[in-house]
Amino acid sequence: MNLVISQLSKTYPNGVHALRGVSLAIKPGMFGLLGPNGAGKSTLMRILATLQEADSGEARLGEIDVLRDKESLRRTLGYLPQEFGVYPRSTAEEMLDHFALLKGITARGERRDTVAALLQQTNLWDARRRRLDGFSGGMRQRFGIAVALIGDPRLIIVDEPTAGLDPAERARFLNLLSELGERAVVILSTHIVEDVSELCTRMAIIERGSIRLEAEPLRAVEALRGRVWRRGVDRALLPRVEEALPVISTTLVGGRTLVHVYGDAPPDPTWEPVEPDLKDVYFTVMKGIEVSPDVAADVEPEPLPPLVLPPPQAPAPVDARVSPAGWSDPFAPPLPAPDAFPPPFADLPPPLPAADPPRRRADAPREDE
Ligand code: ADP
Repeated sequence: MNLVISQLSKTYPNGVHALRGVSLAIKPGMFGLLGPNGAGKSTLMRILATLQEADSGEARLGEIDVLRDKESLRRTLGYLPQEFGVYPRSTAEEMLDHFALLKGITARGERRDTVAALLQQTNLWDARRRRLDGFSGGMRQRFGIAVALIGDPRLIIVDEPTAGLDPAERARFLNLLSELGERAVVILSTHIVEDVSELCTRMAIIERGSIRLEAEPLRAVEALRGRVWRRGVDRALLPRVEEALPVISTTLVGGRTLVHVYGDAPPDPTWEPVEPDLKDVYFTVMKGIEVSPDVAADVEPEPLPPLVLPPPQAPAPVDARVSPAGWSDPFAPPLPAPDAFPPPFADLPPPLPAADPPRRRADAPREDE
């Protein structure tokens, strides 16, 4: 059962265009919707979860018209919102039993089996008699997944699930998500690139209500190979570098600024090549640079077309005081001596290895805290 979204738009009464003609075709499996805060992710998730109306557009889950046949959609929907309220004085088992009843599992024996299976699956069996207000953030999120999984849904929506989790809780939670069946369409909305790179075989990047990239993470990373360069830059020079070059990210490493730039050649020999990762893809896309063609192989898989990379971007003319790259601007001040330029980091960490295909996280802890 595929989820096909076409031309979905939403403008709030205050004039904010939260979604601008969003189209996506999503087959079963884990799909990452990545974007910064305010990009429109929750708006899209709430519309798909029938909690909010779209202004225009269509969405279909198999035969179900998501926007019009809300009852049918709800019967096969599992939704973990960003914030969910529970009755804190209840135990996990009581609460899950209550939600299972609401979801229509009226036979007591079937409900008991369902609740037990979900508590096992989310690794909450040992905590089943504990009150929910004593749960850690990670346990609450896993409880939320248990609720979302009641009734074997075909569409599972998980909105920003790892925000606020500590690293161990996050690993445990991602491990749980990675085990969700391949039969359901699972949409993971997040602003955390690693959530997507660790879990998702398909992804889209959304920004200001528009889809900027829909791709397989690994292919998108491949498309950047040989096009990202890095160098340590003195903080005082950073504005000039940013003005002169297609900077895709700046990170503080050991108190110095590590700059990644995009281009089919290094701006000058002081820049070294980067083994790209999904963060480079994300930041490149967010800078408005096209990373890869839209590989529309999602719903009806076809042999993948050869990657067509965007035309190489000639490095923008570089301020002579920033780069000794050898071009001359008659109006620029004279070039300073080469040793006036900050050297590349001698102590840069080694390039990151290429991302592995998403896999079950063997390292994730499994036990309750
Ligand atoms: P995200 O989940 O990616 O952070 P949202 O869908 O929450 O994005 O928000 C998209 C945009 O819509 C933001 O600019 C946000 O401020 C605005 N927005 C969200 N909800 C409302 C609302 N109920 N009324 C008005 N504006 C809203």
